[in-house]
Amino acid sequence: METKIWSVDKNNEVEHSYPQLQEAARLLRENEVVAFPTETVYGLGANARSDEAVAKIFQAKGRPSDNPLIVHIANRNQLEELVKDIPNLVDKLINHFWPGPLTLVLRKKDHILSEKVTAELSTVAVRMPDHPIALAIIEASGLPIAAPSANTSGKPSPTLASHVIADLDGKIAGVVDGGPTGVGLESTVLDCTEEIPVILRPGGVTREELEEICGQVHIDKALVQENEAPRSPGMKYTHYAPKAPLTVVKGSLGFIQELVSIQQEQGKRVGILTTIEHEAEYSADVIVACGSVDKLETVASQLYDTLRKFDEAAVDIIYSEAFPDKGIGQAIMNRLLKAAGQQVIIEE
Ligand code: AMP
Ligand code: MG
Repeated sequence: METKIWSVDKNNEVEHSYPQLQEAARLLRENEVVAFPTETVYGLGANARSDEAVAKIFQAKGRPSDNPLIVHIANRNQLEELVKDIPNLVDKLINHFWPGPLTLVLRKKDHILSEKVTAELSTVAVRMPDHPIALAIIEASGLPIAAPSANTSGKPSPTLASHVIADLDGKIAGVVDGGPTGVGLESTVLDCTEEIPVILRPGGVTREELEEICGQVHIDKALVQENEAPRSPGMKYTHYAPKAPLTVVKGSLGFIQELVSIQQEQGKRVGILTTIEHEAEYSADVIVACGSVDKLETVASQLYDTLRKFDEAAVDIIYSEAFPDKGIGQAIMNRLLKAAGQQVIIEE
């Protein structure tokens, strides 16, 4: 299949009448899959009501069928069509954070969506993206749009249209190129089916921001379980992974440099993931500054592109600095540790 690429300037060209967005919306109505930018990462959209359309997402990505998808909507009416009820707390969250990088897990109405979207759960994850192109396409399609990140399963999520093309060219009907995404990490997933909401995945909206609006918020236990043994190859669960093995190092710059030197002595090409503050301090084969440690949002927005850069640079092994586990840093460390298969080395 030939993958079409439509270039759209998100600041000037997002009226529904623009032919590129209309064409993307028409393909969605015809049950094709189309990638488009959101404020988090590029999404791979399909008609959430159609088994045929949703199956194409799983096929293009190679995604396991038991991993449910987030449904993207453009207005409040669409939410009411999908879920059984909207509790007061959820109403507050919506008013404050939508459109935005917050996904809400709610009880779904039956027989509205393809069962493939929700992996046969009784709940559905819904989000209203804060991006003019995404909103215009969803609105023009008139459909709820299931949209996971537009990458091959297991690879870093795409924050540029070129990342989408690198993974999915020839496998999807089209890509709307709207330039770089904003946040750069996926949405926060919040389960709102119990009295106290539970963060299932940290993301663009921080725990602190949520707590300001709705009081107590729990974190899924699976997220805080520490697995800080330096190396546990048998237990490796990778996701967002670059090709070369990645290890997160909690330690001084000198300690990281020592690790690099040991690998180089063995003839390895070594990469370092650091920040603009520290990049001049190291000597390694490939040094990538991923934003500024003083502005963690810049680390978030550049993280996936940085991971992909190590693939292009063909390194054998990557060491990454660790980031503060606060605010957006929680989502950064969650993704970085997944990319590392939880491999961490701590300086004694
Ligand atoms: P992705 O689309 O790749 O950004 O991932 C969507 C995330 O939302 C995955 O972690 C899913 O497991 C999660 N998710 C989607 N639907 C549900 C649901 N109904 N209940 C719990 N988690 C969900
Ligand atoms: Mg994903």
